[in-house]
Amino acid sequence: MRVGIVGAGLAGCECAMALARADVDVTLYEMKPATFSPAHTSENLAELVCSNSFRSDDPLAAVGLLKLEMSEAGSLVMDAARHTAVPAGKALAVDRELFSAEITARITAHPRIQLVRQEIRSLDDPALTGLDAVVLAAGPLASDPMAADLARVVGRDSLAFYDAIAPIVDAATIDLTVAFFASRYQEGEGDYLNCPMDEAAYRRFVADLLAADKVKPRDFEHNLHFEGCLPIEVMAERGEMTLAFGPLKPVGLTDPRTGRRPFAVIQLRPENAARTAYNMVGFQTKLTYPEQKRVFCTIPGLAHAEFLRLGSIHRNTFVDAPKTLSPSLELLARPGVFLAGQITGVEGYVESAACGLWLGLCLAARLHGRELPPPPPESALGALLSHLRREAKHFQPSNVNFGLSPELPGRNKKASRKALYASRARDAWTAWMREHLA
Ligand SMILES: Cc1cc2nc3c(=O)[nH]c(=O)nc-3n(C[C@H](O)[C@H](O)[C@H](O)COP(=O)(O)OP(=O)(O)OC[C@H]3O[C@@H](n4cnc5c(N)ncnc54)[C@H](O)[C@@H]3O)c2cc1C
Repeated sequence: MRVGIVGAGLAGCECAMALARADVDVTLYEMKPATFSPAHTSENLAELVCSNSFRSDDPLAAVGLLKLEMSEAGSLVMDAARHTAVPAGKALAVDRELFSAEITARITAHPRIQLVRQEIRSLDDPALTGLDAVVLAAGPLASDPMAADLARVVGRDSLAFYDAIAPIVDAATIDLTVAFFASRYQEGEGDYLNCPMDEAAYRRFVADLLAADKVKPRDFEHNLHFEGCLPIEVMAERGEMTLAFGPLKPVGLTDPRTGRRPFAVIQLRPENAARTAYNMVGFQTKLTYPEQKRVFCTIPGLAHAEFLRLGSIHRNTFVDAPKTLSPSLELLARPGVFLAGQITGVEGYVESAACGLWLGLCLAARLHGRELPPPPPESALGALLSHLRREAKHFQPSNVNFGLSPELPGRNKKASRKALYASRARDAWTAWMREHLA
């Protein structure tokens, strides 16, 4: 049994190690050092291209839980991260050089993994013939020839080259004495939650947006603005009233508390069927994370908002997973080829590695004649994978968050919700592990 993996990043290395440990031979192709993406600079594998943080280590946070689950399932990335951790308060951060060196050493030392430093330029590359399965884990900056070939296989409309992510708010933290339910031009209670602004609040908000700190684009990200999907602050730069005539337009909306049309409205669209999370429509942004929290909490109704995800705009190659992948991450258009990591539509270091780990376990089971069912959606990994199954008009990547989990039963106080999500996730994961991975 031999599996070929394209890309020795976080997902590719996790996947390779999970397969190798299950006695599957792996050929792992990595294009560095002959070819570097615009963000990669080191020859080592599993390079962290930006921050050195794997985010919160709190077992009550979704990403903290995901790390726990990964460790219990034998994650290479989590183990190497613990070995190379640097002090970072409640977060897990690493010395990035030591981390990548550690992963490189473990991968190259494994007798079942053959590392080949070569760019794979298409899914029909002769190097991939005769394998039992191929895993494409080429990441958000997959090389141009490979990205072009993937677009050919899945269809140009099913492959994106950047993401434009708007923040998602925990529904329980929206002030419903201020925000009101309504859909534009429709009678009665509509689907959207609307945060109304009077003129003074609107003008203050625009001024705040313009003055806020922004993330500096990398050189290769300078042309990332598309007219249909401009960052909210770039629209604001075009004139003080641009937003009031654009995404914040109040037309067709009446505030039931005043009986009048507000001066401007921020619309929040339900992110899931249970309506536990709301997406801020049109709020894709390059404001820094702290600035997003500060500025967006000045919006009426969002003073105490908790953000399940913050906004961003990135170079990012990813497929429309619900349309192009099977539940086991196999390309519907090309059976035998599987995707792992950020290219599937998960977002973040931890999530990309988790996705690679899951695919490694799943493929190993299949090659040994067994099917591994996906983890339950109540667990952190199950919730993350369920995102890849949820059809959307404009599918966008997601990090792990409780908004992806099924709603909690009954009504729960805000203060107890995280703990309830977390204990339910632990129970569901433990039962699944015991049954399927023991
Ligand atoms: C600029 C940028 C900054 C980011 N910053 C963060 C951050 O701070 N925190 C965070 O959590 N997430 C961040 N991300 C998102 C994401 O988590 C990381 O990109 C993560 O490394 C993705 O893991 P991966 O394994 O899918 O891909 P990668 O880790 O990128 O691995 C892909 C590997 O495939 C190789 N490769 C590509 N094409 C080919 C080919 N054709 N043949 C052979 N090899 C190939 C690449 O050289 C690379 O080694 C960032 C993304 C980008 C683009």
